[in-house]
Amino acid sequence: MQVYADNAATTQMSAVALEAMLPYFNKIYGNPSSLHSVGQEAKEALEDARARVAKCLGCEPREIIFTSGGSEADNQAIRSAAYYGARKNKKHIISTAFEHHAVLHTLEKLEKEGFEVTLLDVSQGHNITAQQVKDAIRADTCLVTTMYANNEIGSVLPIGEIGAVCKEAGVPFHTDAVQAAGHLQIDVKAQNIDMLSLSGHKFHGPKGVGALYVRRGIPLVNVIEGGAQERGKRAGTENIPAIMGMAAALEDACGHLQENMAKVTAMRERLIEGLSQIPHCALNGDRENRLPNNVSFCFEGIEGESLLLLLDMKGVCASSGSACTSGSLDPSHVLLAIGRVHDVAHGSLRLSLSEYNTPEEVEHILTVVPEVVAYLRSISPVWRDLQTGKRQYIL
Ligand SMILES: *Cc1c(COP(=O)(O)O)cnc(C)c1O
Repeated sequence: MQVYADNAATTQMSAVALEAMLPYFNKIYGNPSSLHSVGQEAKEALEDARARVAKCLGCEPREIIFTSGGSEADNQAIRSAAYYGARKNKKHIISTAFEHHAVLHTLEKLEKEGFEVTLLDVSQGHNITAQQVKDAIRADTCLVTTMYANNEIGSVLPIGEIGAVCKEAGVPFHTDAVQAAGHLQIDVKAQNIDMLSLSGHKFHGPKGVGALYVRRGIPLVNVIEGGAQERGKRAGTENIPAIMGMAAALEDACGHLQENMAKVTAMRERLIEGLSQIPHCALNGDRENRLPNNVSFCFEGIEGESLLLLLDMKGVCASSGSACTSGSLDPSHVLLAIGRVHDVAHGSLRLSLSEYNTPEEVEHILTVVPEVVAYLRSISPVWRDLQTGKRQYIL
């Protein structure tokens, strides 16, 4: 049995998305900027996709800009707010310690350009509160950017409350909703969100395409200069097949949101309950406000990398943190930010499900993970020291 449980890294593209893309490679192949009929046919498809994406978020079509993915949308949103803030001498940005690197690395660059960044502590309940945001806002704050839901540990942030705080303070609010779009109900107007990033490949759409919602009146700067595509805010001929695939996937996901959520949540709960039986482990992330598909644990006395390799041999594809950190030996910044010490953070496992998974696959995971953890502990010098009392258990 081969179980794919790494849907936070990427998802399998749906048949719906693939079907929606195919005509746009060689039948409706025009450039939407061309004035002739072949181009205008592509333009119509593009605007239709924009309207459908907008509908899923509760905004107007002209508030959607298509990008090359979640990372680009994050970069553009953050740089836009920062540079417009700087014009008014506002150079303070608020974010959280467990953001995706697309956000954190952009903020690090801005710090080098003279911006000041406050990263909110996420160790209490593995989440933040709107009160923390409120307390951090200053007269010179030009942006609050917090993720909607964390990609490693699944915590879902109080986005509506943060939006209300930002609105009251008159500070623009951006959210990286890459893990939330297509998985949770989003209403950018009701939640007072000014900018929102999403990515096609996290909800069974294609890779290399995303969208940025920008509320009317919020200024944008370009990160890619060139032609006047996307109302002059994002140059480059639009990737029409990918945009059509993403729109179809998002529409499909939003149309089946409740049933997918119920199905995936049930599997998540079974996994959390089953894996909690393993001695000396801890669940990562907010237990209550949690992505329906996220299961994240730390197991004391083992190496996450070895765990992943052995799980893969037994047919389970999982992750130890974000796909971007694997390959490096540093423990995940997210696990450190929630207060896991290095040794514990190294023994992490993330299982991220989708509605394509089945209860039988969940049972397979529940058979395999305890076996592999027990085996790795049996050959671990750290585990021996814990058992003989030479080292103290942390979990
Ligand atoms: C995957 C992911 C991104 C990056 O999206 P890409 O489309 O792969 O660039 C950004 N933020 C979060 C939270 C993600 O999970």
